[in-house]
Amino acid sequence: MLNRKFFLGFIRIHILYHASKEEIYGVQMIQELKNHGYKVSPGIMYPILHSLESEGFLKCRKENVKGKIRKYYKITPRGEKILHESRQKINELIKEVIEE
Ligand SMILES: [Zn+2]
Repeated sequence: MLNRKFFLGFIRIHILYHASKEEIYGVQMIQELKNHGYKVSPGIMYPILHSLESEGFLKCRKENVKGKIRKYYKITPRGEKILHESRQKINELIKEVIEE
C-alpha cells in the first residue's frame, strides 16, 4: 500500500506517456504496467484514469466493444505539457540518483 502510494507518480507518468502515443484503455494499461513490474488492480487503475481525466490531462471517448462500453483515453494539450515537464524532472533525477 505504501509502495503503491510512493510509485503513484511513476504510474501516472507511464499512463500519460502511452496516452501520448495512442489511445489507451484500463485493462491494456494494467497489462503494460505489469510488464514494467507494477501490480495495479482495476480498483487502482480506474480511479487513476478518472482523476487524470478530471484534472484535464486525459480525455475520454466511449466505444461499444462487443456489447460492452469501453473507455478510451488520449492525452490532452495540458497532459502533453505536464509530460514534457516530467521528462525534464526525470532527466534531473537520473543525473542525480542513477549517474552519480
Ligand atoms: Zn510503459
